[in-house]
Amino acid sequence: MNLNHNQDAAPCKNMEAILQQVADGSATGIKKFYAVAHASRCHKCGNFLERLRITLDVLRESKNRTNAAPQDAIARLRSQISNLEQP
Ligand SMILES: [Zn+2]
Repeated sequence: MNLNHNQDAAPCKNMEAILQQVADGSATGIKKFYAVAHASRCHKCGNFLERLRITLDVLRESKNRTNAAPQDAIARLRSQISNLEQP
C-alpha cells in the first residue's frame, strides 16, 4: 500500500460519512463545524471533501440541464401553437 502521496487517498474512516453530509449540505451546526475543521487540518479529508464538492457540482449542473425544457419540446410547442393560430 502506497497511498501516502496519492491525491485520491481515502479520507479517515470515521470521517467519510460526515464529509459526504457536509458536501451535500445535510450536515449542520457542530457536526459540520467539526468536519470542516478536521478537513482543513487533514490532507486526506480536505482532498476528499474538495473532490466530493466538485462531483456534486457537476451532478447538480447536469441535473439542471436535464430539467430544463429541451429545445425540441419548445419547438414542438411553438408549432402546435402556430397551428392553432392558423385559420
Ligand atoms: Zn482526516
